[in-house]
Amino acid sequence: MKAAVIKEPYRFTIEDHPIPEPKQGEVRIRIHSVGICGSDVHGMEADGGARRVPGLVIGHESAGQIEAVGPDAGPWKVGDRVAIDPQLSCGYCYACERGWKNLCENGVTIGSSRKQMTHGTMREYITVPTRQIYKLPDNVSFDEGATLDFVGNAVHVLNRANSKLGDTFLVIGTGAIGLIAVQLAKLRGAGKVIAVDTSPSKLKLAEQFGADRTINPMFEDVLQVVKDETGGYGADIVLEMVGLPSTYETAILAAKMQGTVMALGFAASQVTIPIQALLFSEITIVGCTGFSFEGETVLKMISDGRINVKPLITHEYPLEEIDRGFEVLRDKTADAIKVIIHP
Ligand SMILES: [Zn+2]
Ligand SMILES: [Zn+2]
Repeated sequence: MKAAVIKEPYRFTIEDHPIPEPKQGEVRIRIHSVGICGSDVHGMEADGGARRVPGLVIGHESAGQIEAVGPDAGPWKVGDRVAIDPQLSCGYCYACERGWKNLCENGVTIGSSRKQMTHGTMREYITVPTRQIYKLPDNVSFDEGATLDFVGNAVHVLNRANSKLGDTFLVIGTGAIGLIAVQLAKLRGAGKVIAVDTSPSKLKLAEQFGADRTINPMFEDVLQVVKDETGGYGADIVLEMVGLPSTYETAILAAKMQGTVMALGFAASQVTIPIQALLFSEITIVGCTGFSFEGETVLKMISDGRINVKPLITHEYPLEEIDRGFEVLRDKTADAIKVIIHP
């Protein structure tokens, strides 16, 4: 089978790999759609935390069809359409016992080399334990199913936010996750949603998804606009979805007294924060990673139209053109949001 292997940052070779056999409790999935994640791009950078090193098959946002079923794979059958939760959890550690499978002590993510080289789904077939898969509702396409992971991240962030009806949400970074977060903030009863990004096309989508005010920091002072929009007090809930020192600083300075900064972004592995503003306004920072029990919710909300992922899918390529997918994502003029690869 074909597999796209990292040769050097943003360059891949298509190699011939053996088709894997499903073991006990596993299924083999024919992969149809794989999204390229921001972490695939940043993970190849020098400061990217060695998340995507040469030799790795990337790919963790994926959907496909069961093509073979191993022993004891429960009710799953050949032909079932599924989305894959890429966070492999052990099921028995302290975190897993408490249902925090995104925090599994033995957890690894497919398509990542951060903890351990674990090949992902930029290939024709993968085998995974059945606890990693979710059935796609009939009206949810493979492309939409491939958004499970990043939509799951957004839903998890909102679930961890202690928000109230009428709160002002500030979404910093309207990439794929941020654009879903805008939709979710509205569903969560936000009084006002303010979205920040340097891309005019992403801000336009944010508006389409319900943002009441958008800010492009190239042309406007984010803190001043947030002040003006909130009677001088700042946002109740700030969603940090970029992960740079400057955006974390903005997030904390834009939060209201006793406000909350939801931290999801980590483009840089270290950031400094304005500690005085944090202390003297009693701001809470809440760390967020992955998702745990939200998978079914995600697919149900896509199925019934409450989460709209279709406008995010801007480019699609066959596996052989994966390099091109990375090119458009890194080219700011290409207005790419979600690039889907079809192995
Ligand atoms: Zn991702
Ligand atoms: Zn575990």
